[in-house]
Amino acid sequence: ASGYTLLRDPHHNKGLAFTAKERDAHYLCGLLPPVVIPQELQVKKMMHLIRQYQVPLQKYMSMMDLQERNQKLFYKLLIENVEELLPIVYTPTVGEACQKYGSILRRPQGLFISLKEKGKILEVLRNWPEKNIQVIVVTDGERILGLGDLGCHGMGIPVGKLSLYTALGGVRPSACLPITIDVGTNNEKLLNDEFYIGLRQRRATGQEYAELLHEFMTAIKQNYGEKVLVQQFEDFANHNAFDLLEKYSTTHLVFNDDIQGTASVVLAGLVASLKLVGGALADHRFLFLGAGEAGTGIAELIALEMSKQTNLPLEETRKRIWLVDSKGLIVSSRMESLQHFKKPWAHEHEPIKTLLDAVNDIKPTVLIGTSGVGRTFTQEVVEGMASFNEKPIILALSNPTSQAECTAEEAYTWTQGRAIFASGSPFAPVEYEGKVHVPGQANNAYIFPGFGLGLIMSGTIRVHDDMLLAAAEALASEVTQENYDKGLIYPPFTNIRKISAQIAAKVAAKAYELGLATRLPQPIDLVKHAESCMYSPAYRSYR
Ligand code: NAP
Ligand code: MN
Repeated sequence: ASGYTLLRDPHHNKGLAFTAKERDAHYLCGLLPPVVIPQELQVKKMMHLIRQYQVPLQKYMSMMDLQERNQKLFYKLLIENVEELLPIVYTPTVGEACQKYGSILRRPQGLFISLKEKGKILEVLRNWPEKNIQVIVVTDGERILGLGDLGCHGMGIPVGKLSLYTALGGVRPSACLPITIDVGTNNEKLLNDEFYIGLRQRRATGQEYAELLHEFMTAIKQNYGEKVLVQQFEDFANHNAFDLLEKYSTTHLVFNDDIQGTASVVLAGLVASLKLVGGALADHRFLFLGAGEAGTGIAELIALEMSKQTNLPLEETRKRIWLVDSKGLIVSSRMESLQHFKKPWAHEHEPIKTLLDAVNDIKPTVLIGTSGVGRTFTQEVVEGMASFNEKPIILALSNPTSQAECTAEEAYTWTQGRAIFASGSPFAPVEYEGKVHVPGQANNAYIFPGFGLGLIMSGTIRVHDDMLLAAAEALASEVTQENYDKGLIYPPFTNIRKISAQIAAKVAAKAYELGLATRLPQPIDLVKHAESCMYSPAYRSYR
């Protein structure tokens, strides 16, 4: 190949890092200015450039440009500056990017499968240049973060998540495939936008929708085999997400990050917080505001863990968990009208309308917000928690920051510094009466990259709930005494690759134990094996 082509191939391009010998051997002389610089200096230069941008979306765009120009440099940047760049390539900035995706998109970064491709999905898959795919993230754009229906613009989400599979979990970039399924949008603004890039029609539903999804899932398995991980139904509306996860979990390797990933990361935080408050999980009482994908997913995993620890049946352990939705406390008298995923949580109790009344009646030790509605943990609610708990655990998980149920400052102030607090979106540390409290971030990015790596390296063919428990345990055990001393219930992101290797090892071990792993024999040291499987962003030398 010519040097000119080499410079335009993001997989091989090294820019100014090509050595004199490489420039000679690959017809690059004259195509680059004379200076030769090491990758480290390129990283420094790019970070310098990115930090000059004031607007997060500009930072995002310059990261996307880099990804298209020089993939290894992109990943090196991301890996070495995780804390700083995570909010750019992932939530919250990726949300804004999706809203404006139509106009900032330069080169499409994944596969678009629309209703027009019905009957030909297998052919479409074959248009993708990489054949050896290990992870697919797919969205239909119906419920992007807290931003609602963004139709075809949802593509930013699979692209961003997959870059984290690589940066944080070490999955090879060429093995990652972002997909958007376009069945239309109900977003009037997009439908009337002359620059909209998706199908200009209302969302297909019912049988038409189910048929397209089924053809897609069948084609995936046919083209990539049984071991491809489909991080499925990312940011789908909850009515579809639950049904599809159930439907395909017995035939495909599917994982829903909004339901299962969230559950695992939150369980990890709860397990860690027991170190600070004492007692076993089953000694606690849980109250949720919000009974959707996140809320019921977390609740179910907590109940499962309690059941494992106590040998009580799930039906019993579920009774320690209560959920409030938009109509009030979920109780048995509401059974008839409840969506199926809420029914297990309809316990015997008189109806209660408000969260405050539920708090004062149930007296939970743990309060979890997953409603998507901001400022719902009011002063009365938080003070209520503080009145009957020495150290109330309060998790305000709704994203983005504006939707958090309460701020870190409110949680610490209203509990006189006694709260154990974590949130979905990051909050800065808070000083209260001379002590600095560092709020943890219950971010799915702790779990899914390592979880995916564990599945891939063991050739696992089905996801099992016990693997989610194993991942949660692995994450919780990465919290150090030094972290606890600051009130943290999650480890810092700086060591995320090391954490991912631990998670991958625990997940793989569980897969082997359950007989779901196909890569045999089982490696003796799974942590070492995980580390050795991880993609390295260092340049190779070309001779
Ligand atoms: P979802 O499936 O739409 O569920 C939302 C739930 O909240 C529903 O049960 C809804 O009640 C309830 N709700 C809405 N408004 C309410 C109100 N005013 N009072 C009480 N309940 C109310 O959404 P989801 O996927 O679970 O996501 C919910 C939130 O969690 C989002 O903000 C998301 O960003 C966040 N989240 C955070 C993380 C994380 O921190 N790692 C992970 C996943 C999700 P009805 O059922 O009655 O409509
Ligand atoms: Mn999501």
